[in-house]
Amino acid sequence: MHGLTLRASFAPVALECAAATVAPEVEFASGGPEADLGSAVHEVLAGAVRSGGPLPDVGAASAKWGADPEEVYRMARWGWAQWAGTPDLPGLSRWFPHPVVEEGLRWAHPSGILLTGHPDVAAVDGDEVRVADWKFGFLDLDAADQMRVYALLALHEHPGAARARTVVLRFREGAADWRTFGREELGAWFVRAACRLAQRHLYRAGAWCARCPRKWECPAKAAKVRQTFAELGVGPAAFLARLPSEPAPRARVLADAYERAKVARQTLDALADLLRAEVAAAGGALADGRGRELRLTLQERRTLDARAALPVLLGHLSHEELYPALTVGKGKVEEALMANEPHGAKGAKVRAVNRELEAAGAFRLQVVEKLELKRVPVTQGALTDGHSSGEQATATANDPAGAADTAAGA
Ligand code: SF4
Repeated sequence: MHGLTLRASFAPVALECAAATVAPEVEFASGGPEADLGSAVHEVLAGAVRSGGPLPDVGAASAKWGADPEEVYRMARWGWAQWAGTPDLPGLSRWFPHPVVEEGLRWAHPSGILLTGHPDVAAVDGDEVRVADWKFGFLDLDAADQMRVYALLALHEHPGAARARTVVLRFREGAADWRTFGREELGAWFVRAACRLAQRHLYRAGAWCARCPRKWECPAKAAKVRQTFAELGVGPAAFLARLPSEPAPRARVLADAYERAKVARQTLDALADLLRAEVAAAGGALADGRGRELRLTLQERRTLDARAALPVLLGHLSHEELYPALTVGKGKVEEALMANEPHGAKGAKVRAVNRELEAAGAFRLQVVEKLELKRVPVTQGALTDGHSSGEQATATANDPAGAADTAAGA
């Protein structure tokens, strides 16, 4: 497989679908607002970890990437608290003595595959290499294969190390996923992975297509989208009537339909983005010469300004009648609380006020039901597919939480 370069960050796509490693005929610019936000937060955190804190100029990084500075600050502040620690929470940094930030790693693997990667943070401690990666929840796939490639690269860089321990800090969920990989089982995993990557003629469409550079020209993805719309065309009753009655086969058909629906939804969203970009590039309007025009319009949405609205509303409603109609933006309130505090005291102020709010019963918990497709352990005897090494342990604190004990076994 000479000539194949596997970037660690692309491994979650490439190992689901080897055809994704074939170069696309036409390259489209990637990115978008969410990726820009992630890049800005990455830049801020990289600066802070390098210097040992505090956060560098958030405004400059936000302007460079065209991201909302408040959002960048909010995410970077949370990430920094996880890294550096707080009075209530020991930081991740204690697992990363002398951290190296975003260092480029390369290994021309004997299989002929060139492995590359830039882990967000790496360190060596005794006979263990450690790698941390920040994830912001946008377009993120299961990061296990990405961390395996980082682990391989880090172990190659440090031949004396016996194992690699990795952590993915998930900003959206506020969780840290730790994994431990032994040198030998990681090597065995890559032998299987290389076999998968060799099958570049095989397509496997799924949620990962959203991150694939071939997504606009891929016949497999197009077939999946067509199949989804064909299913929609026959109507929900006909679709349900064709479902197997046995639970496992029924679940398989439904899980496949879920994945196809996701691919179709991503395709429609991407098409809408393309249309918007075309119309914007044409100056905001595009006429088709047949009496139709695509146009970008500005729509006004009216909101109430609290300062001006409350005196008027309280002339007509009692406090009790008005409260159910009001919401208080928790993030905005925290920003306001911190604005008046010196550096180093901001977090303590927010925590103190949050404790008061908790005692006053001010927090409301909103539970939202969400349909998701998750990987779960396969029962014994089922096929292994190259995803079995490096069991994951999700920690609520920044601690491996026994990940070393849930050792990697192929
Ligand atoms: S679009 Fe999807 S199915 Fe097609 S090559 Fe990419 S990952 Fe594979």
